[in-house]
Amino acid sequence: DHDALREACAAVVARHPALSRAVADTADGPRFVRAAAEVPFTEGDHSDARVRAEIERPYDLTRGPLARFALLRAAPERHLLLFSAHHLVFDGNSKDLLVRDLAAAYAGAELAPLPEIALGNGGDPERIEFWSEVNLPHLRHVPERAEPGATVEFTMAPADIDGLTHFEVLLAAVHVVLARYGNAGMPVSLGMSTRTAETRDHIGLFVNEPVLTVAPATGSLRDYASDVRRRLRMLDRHRPVSTTRPVPALTPVSVGYRKRSPKPAFEHVEWAMFSGAARNALHVQVVEGPEGWVVSLQHSPSAIPTEAVERIGRHLRAVLHADPSADVARIELEPEHPWNDTARDYDPHATVVSLFAEQVRLRPDDIAVVDDSGQSMTYAELDEASAQLARRLPADALIAIRLRRSLPALVNMLAVMRSDSAYLPIDPDYPAARQEMVLEDARPAAILSENGLEHRTGEGVPGAAYVMYTSGSTGKPKGVVVPHAALANLLLGMAETVGSTPGDRWLALTSLAFDISGLELFLPLITGGRLVIASEARALDGRTVAELIRAQGVTHVQATPSGWRVLLESDLPDGLTALCGGEALPLDLARQLRSRVARLINVYGPTETTIWSTAGEIPVDPERVTIGRPIANTRLYIVDSALRTLPVGLWGELCIGGAGVAQGYLRRPDLTADKFVRGMYRTGDVCRWTLDGQIEFRGRSDNQLKVRGHRVEAEEIETRLREHPAVAQAAVALRGDQLAGYIVARGAPPEPAELRRHLAATLPTALIPGLWQVLEALPLTANGKLDRAALPAISLPRDPVSDVDTGGDSDEIIKALQDIWQEVLSIDDIGPEEDLFDLGGHSLTITRISGRIVQRLGVEVPLDVFFDTPTIAEIALYIRESSS
Ligand code: AMP
Ligand code: MG
Repeated sequence: DHDALREACAAVVARHPALSRAVADTADGPRFVRAAAEVPFTEGDHSDARVRAEIERPYDLTRGPLARFALLRAAPERHLLLFSAHHLVFDGNSKDLLVRDLAAAYAGAELAPLPEIALGNGGDPERIEFWSEVNLPHLRHVPERAEPGATVEFTMAPADIDGLTHFEVLLAAVHVVLARYGNAGMPVSLGMSTRTAETRDHIGLFVNEPVLTVAPATGSLRDYASDVRRRLRMLDRHRPVSTTRPVPALTPVSVGYRKRSPKPAFEHVEWAMFSGAARNALHVQVVEGPEGWVVSLQHSPSAIPTEAVERIGRHLRAVLHADPSADVARIELEPEHPWNDTARDYDPHATVVSLFAEQVRLRPDDIAVVDDSGQSMTYAELDEASAQLARRLPADALIAIRLRRSLPALVNMLAVMRSDSAYLPIDPDYPAARQEMVLEDARPAAILSENGLEHRTGEGVPGAAYVMYTSGSTGKPKGVVVPHAALANLLLGMAETVGSTPGDRWLALTSLAFDISGLELFLPLITGGRLVIASEARALDGRTVAELIRAQGVTHVQATPSGWRVLLESDLPDGLTALCGGEALPLDLARQLRSRVARLINVYGPTETTIWSTAGEIPVDPERVTIGRPIANTRLYIVDSALRTLPVGLWGELCIGGAGVAQGYLRRPDLTADKFVRGMYRTGDVCRWTLDGQIEFRGRSDNQLKVRGHRVEAEEIETRLREHPAVAQAAVALRGDQLAGYIVARGAPPEPAELRRHLAATLPTALIPGLWQVLEALPLTANGKLDRAALPAISLPRDPVSDVDTGGDSDEIIKALQDIWQEVLSIDDIGPEEDLFDLGGHSLTITRISGRIVQRLGVEVPLDVFFDTPTIAEIALYIRESSS
């Protein structure tokens, strides 16, 4: 009955002045006024598009009204009466009131007028402090204005706990979930009705959104919800007056709960739950009706993926469905995902030695290894040479190998493992003092070096394949003890992930003092392939490495991101499989590198979990870089500070468990207990799972740095610096790919060259800062600790060179050196007296410069010469002297 319906609507409008309002801008701020027009009642044909258009049509606030009716005809006897209103004049309870009065009027009842009420227009806006940040899985940003929204909806039975209201339980559960995400006790705003007995029957906006602070969620849900109840009661006593505020919501997360009136007399009513606008990161709206709770998780898909919100919904249900007396800190939010199902059935007794022996049996006459001088050995020859040496070595011992990467070094490593001993690589290019420090700490029973075999008194390390030293935060390096089984598992796992067959040829390019050398040396040998050893001199220059790759038909190359940047400077053959790891792979490098190779695998892993623990295949034109998934028999957990597993999408510390986990640190039970917990290694890396089961790497949670692939604890360099008599305090930080040293001087500040010389006595060259700054004092945090984030930026203090001597009479050697330096450093006009380090030079630039010197001038300049005499003029002098 069109006419009766039209009249019923008019009667409702007459009874509820809010529906006929507009908003005027006045000197006192916005105020409600009477609208310039009547509440429209339009008629038309029904279609989904029309319905959507009606809902989405904006209101003219200043003209009003802020409500409208549309009667849409679907069939002669079927109509949809669509009512829409702006939230400024309409709240959840208004819905029930509207339908109640409409039904009554349509049935012929007279609607009695309601008493007049004063409208809440403003009021003193309290300044509310709130967190503007929240950890939600995959959250990209917290909306700062209304954004197009979406909702995840589900129904569930109301969560019932004796003595508590449903709202209290809901709110407590939301806080439990938030706390588990790392937002313990964060303020959440609540959509609360401000209706009183007086306003009970009025249509209008009678809600406020107070912010409630709660205690961090602990104990059982029952006890915690009781605590939330007490706080809610306090809020109730100070029930705020109704105010209108602009979007967005006060807090990143908000909760609304409403109990619907029992079904109204008017049939076929359906309320849309969601307006389509997201005002914050997450709004949890629950409407309780006879059919239970209808939960709506409202969000902006551009701020947080809907799939992540679905997961939040599952976490909320997990808490609400848990036993109310269970500890909320331990409720399982989500089942373990399948990405850790990496179990493989490898032979538990396999070792590099046994796997290599198998290949010797299969292909004794195949070439196993060649070096870049053309020397080679077959599988049988390598087997025989290593067996012979093994017979002379102590068994079950730790044996240091102080050799550069070479064919003999490989024979030594195999021999040590064959004698059931473990090898300890010592980089002969490291400062003597550092080599001594490691030898003293590790106590090997023998040393293999250029001078042959030298026995000492030492101790064994049972079960170990090798012991690898890495930087320690106390200033002293620590030895990681890697068992045979871990190494074998890594090799077999990588053979599977990367693929390695008898036709493949792997390049050995990494220093033996890095654990990753173990992969490139042994994987080809246990899979029947061929190892191509690049000498250290060769590895100095990208171009000569590329020549070797071509000449030897290398198929697999592993390098750090900085190493790959060098290699990309030259012409690489097509079809390479590239492994890149050791530090974060930047997206730009990933794109560039992937376009030049057939496969690119980002590999990740600490020394403590044996070379690599994850691998991620990078596609062509990648949009993102992940470190992929766990390799065979490896499990990854992202945990919070209490070591609880975090749900997918939240940042936390990556812990690694499984076959790769090392025995611990050599003779450092304290440190071992600290880092190796419940069979897992705590990496200190901040990571998260993506929705498709990859691990994203964000950075470190401590002060460990990666300087062009070299791992160092900032504290180790700082300790060394403080040992200099003129240094009172010291800090180091990464600036781009450069290490920067900051010192507070004791008396006259020392020259950078002096500090570098001081560090070079104990530190590998890569770990010596190239940038320096003297500070009055180190920046400190509120609690008196070094504030690393506040260390200033440093730029290169380069004075423009006035007279670059490139005239015709200039020295040929100087000219050649100038060309090389300018190419490598990408700086024009370098003067012969300019300090290489002041120009931004570092160990990698030095290796590239010295590689080119070999190529063009035929002279090998040892790296330490560059540290002692870092100018073109001085290097020229060295070259002249050594060639005369
Ligand atoms: P290391 O013990 O020298 O292998 O250093 C291990 C550390 O290097 C890890 O804990 C990470 O911080 C970092 N790292 C290694 N590989 C990667 C990678 N592919 N992406 C990001 N960081 C990496
Ligand atoms: Mg590693």
